[in-house]
Amino acid sequence: MVKTIQTKVPLQEVNTLGRYFKKKFKEKVYKVPISISGFTCPNIDGTVAKGGCSFCENDSFSPNLQDKKSKFKLSPKTTENPFLENQLKQLELQFNATKNRLEKKFGAKKFIVYFQSFTNTYAPFETLKALYEKALSFDNVLGLSIGTRTDCVTDEILDYLKALSLHKEIWVEYGVQSFYDETLHQINRGDTASNMRKWIAKTKEKGLLVCAHLIYGLPNETQKMMLHTLDETLKLNVDSIKFHPLYVVKNTLLTNEYKKGKFTPITEELYIDTVVKSIQKLPSHINVQRITAGINDNTLLSPLWCRNKHQQINKIRKALREVGLEY
Ligand code: SF4
Repeated sequence: MVKTIQTKVPLQEVNTLGRYFKKKFKEKVYKVPISISGFTCPNIDGTVAKGGCSFCENDSFSPNLQDKKSKFKLSPKTTENPFLENQLKQLELQFNATKNRLEKKFGAKKFIVYFQSFTNTYAPFETLKALYEKALSFDNVLGLSIGTRTDCVTDEILDYLKALSLHKEIWVEYGVQSFYDETLHQINRGDTASNMRKWIAKTKEKGLLVCAHLIYGLPNETQKMMLHTLDETLKLNVDSIKFHPLYVVKNTLLTNEYKKGKFTPITEELYIDTVVKSIQKLPSHINVQRITAGINDNTLLSPLWCRNKHQQINKIRKALREVGLEY
C-alpha cells in the first residue's frame, strides 16, 4: 500500500500595519489615539449637514474624549482660537498617559500620534500646525496619522503635510465608507463619491500615505456592493485599509431606522465572508490596519456579535487560515 504524505502548504502572511511598521522601522510601532476638545465636523455643525453620519455617536470612536460638554467648536473659519494652549496641554497629557501605559504593558518604544476623533483637519490652519508640530516634538514619535474627511482637506494642508512627510511618517486617514452615492446620501454622509476620488487622488499625488476606512453592512448594501467599494478604493492606490462592521449605538440617527425596522444589521457570517474575500483581493503592498470593531458596553443596540471584538478577530483569523492566509 502506498502511503500518501500530506504536506501542509505554509500560510501566507497578510500585510498588516504592524508588519509594515516592523519592516520599515525594524521595531514595533504603536499608534496613540488622541481626542482634542473643540474639534467637530462639518457634518455635525451644519456646514454640510446636521446630525452627522447616521451611525455617528462619537464617544464610540474616541475612548479618550474628555470634554464632551465643551461649547467651543472650531472650524476653518474660526479667526481666533483662545483654547489653543489648553488643546496643546490636552494633547501632551493624553499622549503621555497612553505612552506610559504602552511602555509598561508592552515595552513600547516608538509611536505614531493618531488624531482620531471628529475631523482633524477641520480647524484654522495655524491651530492644525501648532497641534501637529507639538505632537511631532514628543520623544520617540515617528509621525502622525490624521483622521479626516475628503471635504475637509485643502491644497494648503496637503502641501504642508507633504513637507512634514519628508522627515516624518505622515498618514491621512479618510472615512470612505462606501463609493455608492445613494448609500452616502442615506447615511447622511454629506460627501460624494466623486469628491472622495478627487481628494484621495490629490493626497496620493502629493506622495502622502493614505488609509481608507470602509464600513460593511451599510443600509441596503449587498456583498457585491461592498466588494465594489473596495475595488474602487484600490483603484485610487491607497496604502492601507480599515474594515469596520456597521453597528447601531444609542443616540444616533441609525437607532431610529433600526427601531422602525428600516435597517437590518449585517450578520456575522456575511461580515466575516466579506472581509476574507476583501483581504484576498488586496495587493501585497497594501496593508490592513483593522479587520473589525466592537463595542462592549450598553450603548450597543445591535448586532450583539459586535460586543466581543476579540472573538470576532479570532473567527476572522480562522476563516483566513482556511484560505491560506495568516493575519
Ligand atoms: S464624518 Fe466622522 S465625525 Fe463627522 S459625522 Fe461622520 S462619523 Fe461623525
